[in-house]
Amino acid sequence: MMTMEDRDGFIWMDGKWVDWREAKVHVLTHTLHYGMGAFEGVRAYETSDGPAIFKLEKHTERLFNSARILGMDIPFDADTLNQAQREVVIKNNLNSAYIRPMCFYGSEGMGLRADNLKVHVMIAAWEWGSYLGEDNMKNGIRIRTSSYIRHFAHPSLSGAKMNGNYINSMMALKEAQDHGFDEALMLDVDGFVSEGSGENIFVIKDEVIYTPHLTSALPGITRDTIFTLAKSLEYKIVEKKISCDDIYTADEAFFTGTAAEVTPIRDLDGKQIGIGSRGLITAKLQSLYFDCVHGRNDEYLHWIENGRCS
Ligand SMILES: *Cc1c(COP(=O)(O)O)cnc(C)c1O
Repeated sequence: MMTMEDRDGFIWMDGKWVDWREAKVHVLTHTLHYGMGAFEGVRAYETSDGPAIFKLEKHTERLFNSARILGMDIPFDADTLNQAQREVVIKNNLNSAYIRPMCFYGSEGMGLRADNLKVHVMIAAWEWGSYLGEDNMKNGIRIRTSSYIRHFAHPSLSGAKMNGNYINSMMALKEAQDHGFDEALMLDVDGFVSEGSGENIFVIKDEVIYTPHLTSALPGITRDTIFTLAKSLEYKIVEKKISCDDIYTADEAFFTGTAAEVTPIRDLDGKQIGIGSRGLITAKLQSLYFDCVHGRNDEYLHWIENGRCS
């Protein structure tokens, strides 16, 4: 079986290129025990001029923000991390890639009080197709309201893409999958819709596009892209509190994320949404999104310019 560990290639670790199989850490790595770390999920797509990373600077900026929220001081500047992300695609001979940068504490000390911890940075990249499956991109996924509550804005740092938060996401996803669904829908502490386990959500009713405020959802870069694209198609887009009832009675719904891209949702809790397949507006946004990431839309070429790998 091909594991994540047993592959040819190179991983960037603290400024050096390390053979894929040698990119290891000790079992007393602090982040492995307590989950304090920040990471990103980034994608490079094939374009007519070779692979290009979509919105590279935005992802790096959010990585620095996540680290700042956690009080981790990244010992590299943004240009260095941007360059490493462009190079990791080329070094591993990838035409398109999922790129994973992560900042974590090393094994310099143990315990919650350790104060001699170094911040380490790794960047890996590999080929990764559609996160929720090709078929689902056309027909939509089935989701289930989770019994797990999304972290609330302040005390659990919902704005940071931080390692420890994903225990909650993974519990929610597993619960959904155990019940035969593709993804979880997580609510906030007040019972309003927040997001998926790793995706922001949008709902369409009477040609108006709605999405929850960022009080408990992660500030998605794809979410931001959808705001721009929806406006360019002259759809009204509104942030508001959304209930499950709003989704049951919606015309269309979809998830967004770097991994999930634009994934239609066809039912929630076994109740069909709209036509029970990819809706018209979702299809338009999805197609425009793919044009942009592949550099086929001249108006948004600036989203990939700085991410060109070759
Ligand atoms: C990463 C992530 C998203 C999507 O963010 P993008 O920047 O669009 O990839 C949404 N929700 C959660 C919880 C995430 O971790």
